[in-house]
Amino acid sequence: MKRIYLDNAASTPIAPEVISIMHKMMIEDFGNPSSIHSYGRTAKNIVENSRKKIADLLNTSPGSIFFTSGGTEADNMAINCAIEDYNITHAITSKISHHAVLYPLQNLANKKKIKLSYVKIDKNGLVSNDHLEELLNKNPRSFVSIMHANNEIGTIQNISRINEICKKHNAILHSDTVQTIGHYPFDLQKFDIDFLAASAHKFHGPKGIGFIYISENINISPFLRGGGQERNMRPGTENIYAIAGMCKALELAYENLTKDTKYIKELKSHMINKLRTEIPGVNFYGNCANIDNSLYTVLSVSFPEHSASEMLLFNLDILGISCSGGSACASGSTKGSHVLSIIDPDSRRSGIRFSFSKYNTIDEIDFTINKLKEIFIS
Ligand code: PLP
Repeated sequence: MKRIYLDNAASTPIAPEVISIMHKMMIEDFGNPSSIHSYGRTAKNIVENSRKKIADLLNTSPGSIFFTSGGTEADNMAINCAIEDYNITHAITSKISHHAVLYPLQNLANKKKIKLSYVKIDKNGLVSNDHLEELLNKNPRSFVSIMHANNEIGTIQNISRINEICKKHNAILHSDTVQTIGHYPFDLQKFDIDFLAASAHKFHGPKGIGFIYISENINISPFLRGGGQERNMRPGTENIYAIAGMCKALELAYENLTKDTKYIKELKSHMINKLRTEIPGVNFYGNCANIDNSLYTVLSVSFPEHSASEMLLFNLDILGISCSGGSACASGSTKGSHVLSIIDPDSRRSGIRFSFSKYNTIDEIDFTINKLKEIFIS
């Protein structure tokens, strides 16, 4: 059976070039980077060359990049370390942040270590800068965490403007950039933010590896305690294969950024047009149908109420189409999407997120549309 993968915001397939580098290293370069012999030195070089290349791609210094096990760890590290080390007593985020941000912040709030405020968002998930200013006027030197792009509905925040507001109030800003690093250019010489988080499996790299960017103006103590790896900031023997794989994936992403972005936008536009013309009553969450003003890899679709909608995700899976879902009305259960329940609380419609990569094709989109037509129209 034909299988179609439209869940790239959950994870992307590893690029073949990345697999071949990792495969070669797994065979040849098995030394521990902390060992002083030649195998160790080779492994250490792999780690440090990767750090340097990643830093170059983001136009920052290698000293600002620390490898982590992925986006969740990077988010948790920024939140827990900055709040503790800077004696922060007030934090701000939005209700549509990823759980890797919401849960550590809520944990600190439950333990009464901080007071947590939620900045208002509009119906598309865009942060109200006025409300952010208001919260910061009352609580300067807060810790603020605003995600760059939302993984479910594709809303992109004006993070530079948010950074300016935070700077004005001496607040520390963390941005969860897990969905945007490798998909948008970053120039960290010009963009003076405190923390960013990245995850390789969102840009055709391996799972279980990512990094945190920490501005040189920030001074925090380690999240984990142990050996001296990552300049004492993140102990544990480095996952050299994954680090090298992530570096290769990011190099490929930025080498081909213009071409791949254009191609993926065409796929997304095609799907929007087809859905609008072929499936009556379809809507789009947030502003994700606005190609140039949303995360171009994500299309979050609201399907009309229909006997088939309840099982839509399951039915698509049976037909060989992998995507992801979550409906607002299921928010009382553990399965609901916290994002859709905020954006569209009363809806009984089915929300399905289709998310694209450079490996998808127009044929795959057409196939998916035909299957949706069979489900909704026949
Ligand atoms: N933040 C966002 C916005 C994400 O989409 C994800 C992954 O789904 C994460 C954080 C967590 O990243 P990881 O899977 O690398 O822990």
